[in-house]
Amino acid sequence: MATKIVMLGALGRMGQHILRLAREDRECEVVGEVDRDVDLKPSLGKADVVIDFTMPAATMHHLPEIVAAKKALVLGTTGFSEDEKRKLGEASKTIPMVFAPNMSLGVNLLFSLTQIVAQVVGDDFDVEIVEAHHNKKIDAPSGTANHLAEIVAAAKQKPLSQVAKHGRAGITDARRRSEIGIHAIRGGDVVGDHTVMFLGTGERIELTHRASSRDTFAKGALRAAKWVVNAEPGQYDMLDVLGLKVQPNAENG
Ligand code: NAD
Repeated sequence: MATKIVMLGALGRMGQHILRLAREDRECEVVGEVDRDVDLKPSLGKADVVIDFTMPAATMHHLPEIVAAKKALVLGTTGFSEDEKRKLGEASKTIPMVFAPNMSLGVNLLFSLTQIVAQVVGDDFDVEIVEAHHNKKIDAPSGTANHLAEIVAAAKQKPLSQVAKHGRAGITDARRRSEIGIHAIRGGDVVGDHTVMFLGTGERIELTHRASSRDTFAKGALRAAKWVVNAEPGQYDMLDVLGLKVQPNAENG
């Protein structure tokens, strides 16, 4: 049976890509296309899952309705405050939710590789994250860059808020060892580039992912939609969907 999808943010850049791919996919059926000033309720009743690529205020506006209808959610929107993330966590006690700032396979591999390198190099290498996006993006740094920074901070066992350094100007003093530099470039039609630089003495490692088409995110969103409809309530990410999550005590089940 096809997965029945409501697209929230249907007129947006991502919404349009997801709708095009969903229509070409026999395992998906689009039962609603909702953007500003369109009522979500009529299509919600017909849906298995809502795919949301809008903006935080829109997500928070629609969330109570989605929870009340007990529908699964694939949430691609970025830029949530800590308080909004807490409310998303509350909602995931009732509904299954895939919440991922970047749904591409390549970027999720970048997350895994970044975790491995950060754990190995510890504080011996300085870490700087550089991202580039198109000139219409309204939040910075990207959700993906923030997530990469969270992965590095976790490996350093420090809260990100203590070690994040957003851009530099003027007399900055020497770089602190545990600092994680985060820099955002905006321009043109860049779909999304992320580089994590590990800068040591006499050598450096750079992990780079470049997205050249939004289809990579759209494919990931549809894969997440098909997966999340069979999941128990809870908050999941793309590593769960793609089966890339490292299980802490795998041999003990
Ligand atoms: P966009 O501005 O092109 O589209 C957003 C759409 O949401 C617009 O059509 C807008 O009218 C609609 N919208 C706003 N308020 C609404 C409301 N109350 N109800 C319904 N619709 C509403 O933006 P975009 O480039 O498509 O990106 C959307 C979001 O997805 C951003 O947060 C972006 O960072 C994120 N994004 C995530 C991924 C990922 O893989 N997770 C990839 C690309 C973009």
